[in-house]
Amino acid sequence: MDIEEYSPVSTLKIKETLLTKSKYPFIDVHGHPFPTVISDLTQLVSEMDSLNMAFMINLSGFRGLYLKKSLENVKKNAPTRFGLFLNLDFEKIDENDFESNTLKIINDSYNQGVMGLKIYKSLGLTDKDSNGNRIKINDPRLKPIWELCGKLKIPILIHSGDPEPFWSDKDKYNERWLELRQKPGRYMGDSNIYPSFKEVISEQHDIFENNPGTIFINAHLGWMGNDLDALSKHLDKYPNVMTEIGAVLAELGRQPKRARKFLINHKERILFGKDYNPSQEFSEYYTYFRVLETNDEYFDYYRKRHAHWKMYGLSLPDSVLKAIYYENALKLFPKIDKKLIK
Ligand SMILES: [Zn+2]
Repeated sequence: MDIEEYSPVSTLKIKETLLTKSKYPFIDVHGHPFPTVISDLTQLVSEMDSLNMAFMINLSGFRGLYLKKSLENVKKNAPTRFGLFLNLDFEKIDENDFESNTLKIINDSYNQGVMGLKIYKSLGLTDKDSNGNRIKINDPRLKPIWELCGKLKIPILIHSGDPEPFWSDKDKYNERWLELRQKPGRYMGDSNIYPSFKEVISEQHDIFENNPGTIFINAHLGWMGNDLDALSKHLDKYPNVMTEIGAVLAELGRQPKRARKFLINHKERILFGKDYNPSQEFSEYYTYFRVLETNDEYFDYYRKRHAHWKMYGLSLPDSVLKAIYYENALKLFPKIDKKLIK
């Protein structure tokens, strides 16, 4: 038998609280739900209703005509249930009109109704200028972008780097060994190709520091879900930074005591995210509800390569659940209809 095949069934007899909808309506700020701009949203909306999901942000809004058509589709078919984020192309950074063109795209998209800007991890990892040099996240030529979003009061959700073990030796001690075996392209330990983890992350923190008037959502707990002391200090240091729990729930669910304290202490700074895309089952959301709401012990996570360990419920107080599920998002995105939260 291979390690991937090994799936022992727990013999533990213990209370199970299986939740199929959240206790309060929730706003998912980290989704990639539409396969195409002309997608029929009916099925998606009914799945959202069954989970108690009031609103979902599609971070993959792209730009130009694609974005315009997506916005029209939402407006026509589910105007109160989805928001879109703009995506930019940084590889034109050397062109003379990069700044004016990019700022125009942001202004135009804002006027058409986008709710924010999504920065993919390609910035800082793989995006190159015309000479083939890596574009740093804190490249000064990008500063007008961060400033304009601050002025327009639209948040920037930024995913930089990846889990630190992707840079570590692929050996039996690596916590992400299974993921690196299943997805070998995620390995970033080759310094001829990739910058170091620390380099990328420090460039990201640099833009937080130097643009205090802009709200950033540091995606995936800023890859500090395994070090909540560090994440607490990070949030204390940068009051303009929020974070979200998409695809890193297993970090919280393996340390329920510390995670509970962390979420209570920083409840105004955490948003609900799942990093949903159409290849996933909606039932994966159930694990989020179970970890956040119950005090169940030793239950399965939904993706073995992200967590070969078990989950424990955090049993969060109602005030914290409400903050994470919807209050913080409503404050950040005043365009979301408050009547969706009943
Ligand atoms: Zn994502």
